[in-house]
Parts: sequence; C-alpha cells; structure tokens
Amino acid sequence: MLGLMQQWPLLCHKILDYAAAQHGQREIVSRSVEGPIVRTNYVELRGRALKVAQRLERDGYGLGDRIATLAWNTARHLEVWYGIMGVGAVYHTLNPRLFPEQIVWIMNHAEDRLLFVDLTFLPIVEKHCPGVKSVKKVIVLTDAAHMPQTSLANAVAYEEWLAEADGDFAWKSFDETTAAGMCYTSGTTGNPKGVVYSHRSNVLHAMMAAMPDAMGISTRDTVLPVVPMFHANAWGLAQSSPMVGAKIVMPGGKMDGASIYELLDTEKVSFTAAVPTVWLMLLQYLEETGKKLPHLKRVVIGGSACPRAITEKFQKNYDVEVIHAWGMTEMSPLGTLCTMKPEYDDLQGDARFAIQQKQGYAPFGVEMKVTDDEDREHPWDGKTFGRLKVRGPAVAGSYYGGASSEQFATDGWFDTGDVAHIDAHGYMQITDRAKDVIKSGGEWISSIDLENLAVGHPDVAEAAVIGVRHSKWDERPLLVIVRKPGREPEKADILSFMNGKIAKWWMPDDVAFVSEIPHTASGKIQKMTLREQFKDYRLPTETAI
Ligand code: AMP
Repeated sequence: MLGLMQQWPLLCHKILDYAAAQHGQREIVSRSVEGPIVRTNYVELRGRALKVAQRLERDGYGLGDRIATLAWNTARHLEVWYGIMGVGAVYHTLNPRLFPEQIVWIMNHAEDRLLFVDLTFLPIVEKHCPGVKSVKKVIVLTDAAHMPQTSLANAVAYEEWLAEADGDFAWKSFDETTAAGMCYTSGTTGNPKGVVYSHRSNVLHAMMAAMPDAMGISTRDTVLPVVPMFHANAWGLAQSSPMVGAKIVMPGGKMDGASIYELLDTEKVSFTAAVPTVWLMLLQYLEETGKKLPHLKRVVIGGSACPRAITEKFQKNYDVEVIHAWGMTEMSPLGTLCTMKPEYDDLQGDARFAIQQKQGYAPFGVEMKVTDDEDREHPWDGKTFGRLKVRGPAVAGSYYGGASSEQFATDGWFDTGDVAHIDAHGYMQITDRAKDVIKSGGEWISSIDLENLAVGHPDVAEAAVIGVRHSKWDERPLLVIVRKPGREPEKADILSFMNGKIAKWWMPDDVAFVSEIPHTASGKIQKMTLREQFKDYRLPTETAI
C-alpha cells in the first residue's frame, strides 16, 4: 500500500522560491570581485536566477548539460547556480586553486558546454580553455563597464547577457533524482573523480546541515560562508541558508584576516564556516589589532583537523563556540559535526576540549561504521580504529564515469579512505587517511596522532609522518619536521618530548629535518610526494635488528 500524500519532488529551486516567499527582504551581501560591497535580497536574487534560467534555455542549454563555474562566493555565483539548476542543467564548480592543466582535464572529462568565470580567473581561461572543445561560450561575471579586452572570441559580459531576459519564466520540473551539481575531488593520487549531486540529495543535505545539532542556522542568523562554493558546495550553506531564510554574507575573493574581520563586524555575522587556515589568519589579525568578535556566535571548522589552539582561542578569548566538522566532497559534504550531546553537559576545561578535538557525530541521514580490512565491524569504544565507511541519501553511490568502483560496496557502504574510531556516544575521530596509516608488524600506527604530538613541541613549525619500508616490521614511522625560524631542535629533543605520551612501539624510528613540506591545492600535506622523496631512506633501526 502506498501513502496518499502529494508528489512534491525535492528540487533545489524550490528552496529559492521558499526564501523569496517567506524571507523575501532578507539581505544577501557580497564583496564583489570589482571591489564594492553590493546588496540584494531573496526576491531579487530569485528574479535574476529566473532570468539566468530563461537565458540559458534560449541559448539551448537544458536537462543534463554541464555548466562550469570558476568563481568566488558572491550573489552572482549563487543566482547562476540556481538558474542552472532551474532548467535541469548541472552546475559544475571548478576549483581555481588546482593547476590549470587539472582544470582543463576536469572540464574535458565533464564535457562542460558553458563557463561562467569571475574576472580574477579570466587570464587562466584565456590561456588554457581553448583546449576544452566542448565549451561553446564564456560568460564573464561582470558588467559591460568592467569587461576587459579578451582574446576569447566567444566571451560575453554577464550583465549584458542577462539583460536580454525579462524573467518571465517558470522553473522546469523533472524528477528529484535529476543531476543538479558536480564537483571533482582533488585527490592526492590519480586523476580527479567527479561527484554528481542530485536535486534530492542537495535538498536533503541542506535540511541535515541546518538541523539544530548540526549547523543549527536559522532565520535569525547572518551566515558568512567563507568556505568556497567550489569546495564541496560551500558545505551546503548556499542551500541551507535560503532554506531557513538566513541573511547571507559572501566574501568574494578576499579571505585574509582583515577582510574577513571587516565583514564579520560590519554585517554583524553570527555564524561562519571555513578551513583552519582561514581562522589562523583571522586569529592572528585579532591578536595584532586587539579587536574582538562581539556578534559572532558559532564557527564551523573542518576540511582538515582543527588544531586545539584554534578552538581554545575562539572559545576562551572571543566567546565564540567552535563546531569541528568532518566531511568530504562525496558526502555533499557533511559527515559529522562536533556539537555537544547532553551527556557532556558537565564537561569543563581540558575534558571538553578533548571531545572537541573529535570530528563529532553524524546527523540523521549519515550512517557510519568502522571496519578492519575484511569489513568486520569494530566496536564503538573510542579506541579501535579502522576504515571509516558511510552511507546515506547525500553520499555518492558512484563516481562520474564509473571511476574507482572498488570504493563503493554492493551493500551501499562507501569507503571514505579515512581511518577513524567511534566512541560509545557516537563521536568519531579521524586518526589517519587509509593510505597514510603506518602498518607496522600487522598493527596500525596513526600518522596524524604522531604529527599532532610533534607539532606540540615549541620549536616545531610543521610535522608529517610517513611509513618507510622496514625489513622486519614492514613499515616504521619516519617523522619529517620543519623547524620554526631561528630554532634548532635536534632529533633527541623531539623524541624525548614525545616519549611517554604514546605507546613505545609508536615512537618514530627517525626524525628528518626539511625546509618545506609539500601541500595539495586544498592545503593538505602531500604524503605521496613526501613518500617519493624518502623512498630510499634507510632507517637507523634497520641495522639494530
Ligand atoms: P575534500 O573532499 O577535499 O573535502 O576532502 C575530504 C577529506 O578531508 C576527508 O576524507 C578527510 O580526510 C579530510 N577532512 C575533512 N574534514 C576533516 C577534519 N575535520 N579532520 C580531519 N580530516 C578532515
């Protein structure tokens, strides 16, 4: 027997319809790429998104067409997203921090037909995009007055293109499982892999993200998504903010401490989200200037592990609650958020910070388990770590073109490639990436735990731990260190600092000092390059056995 309720497909443009109907005058403020702060609201943004949709249809774009964007977080980018989705086409966010060759590879793989680009990135497009044959037109997100000379024959200024539509248009309707968006993962190995979101997954993800114990945003919030729309959907904020009618503040291309502070202050931002690097820059700016954060209430920090020092500073010095979060492009991206369950109400000081170091627990819509290599589930005891697997309505079921099918089990579980444990209250903590964990004598050593410990040494600027081949143990940990300027710690200093804080067999077999550790486009340590660099390294313990 079927339920007798209405068929109301979960389509992304309905989010914008709702925002315009119920929260129409709520502002969307952007730092424009041209410079000035510009203001609009949900009614106006919806009107312009309808024009985008109308214009796209007139140009012959529709269901299933991949339409790329290479742009910062601004209201224009947002209306373009909704306009694309509103004709059943697929927004494809490109990450400008990737190498141009990678961007071209991704565009060719997705067969993008059209590109919306910010002025900032026009030079990259002029130089590299002629290599993407599928792109028929380039729309530069600016007006005629700011449109530069360009070598691109098929480029047009966005405002001129848009002016040819009157907005008298109705969104297209289609099945909720229709593709809405696309984003490639910037993996550290192999070619990037395409994740294809559906309207249904985006809508459900936005609901999950907004829930009180997840991001908990409401119409009373002013939300600053510093996390870019090109990095995993701005963590859902481009959809969950209109869904709850929150005011949005878009930072454009400026993410330095002073620029972010200016928006936090003048727009009275109450909620924001970004990777740790952004918050390091803001905290440094606040310390230098002595400024405070009277309006900000909550900050979500994820993308890589949030160092305890950041959590402490926000909470102790500025009275801002930190929510540590974990996710991935394949999960739309939210997986877990570290908000406090009532079980932890009485926790204070160090004990509370220790919980906040964890990546948190899953909201409704994300199932998690941790297994060994044979898919046997580990207990939720907060210490037995293994492969972290997930499933849910906003988790990828396969990659575009069928790449890496081994990551998707037939029973629906997706192997995240992360290594983690889960405690009795359901809080998950990442201990490593599966390919970075060090397998010593059949047991696993967490490279992240060792790195976190080593960076606690006052003379260490950055630390990375990799497994180096060992004749007896298979692999043993090598600690690679960048010293702080003007400091000269020796191997013995570092090892005695670590001694006693971890199991003896976890102690690194050697310490190597380098001037720089390689990073990926999204700021993560590039372990593969480091392993390549140290592939012939002979550990001193080889001779001792
Ligand atoms: P991306 O798809 O580029 O967002 O990368 C996802 C990966 O980033 C995850 O699989 C994790 O390895 C890592 N990651 C994301 N958030 C965190 C976090 N809070 N702590 C540790 N690692 C994280």
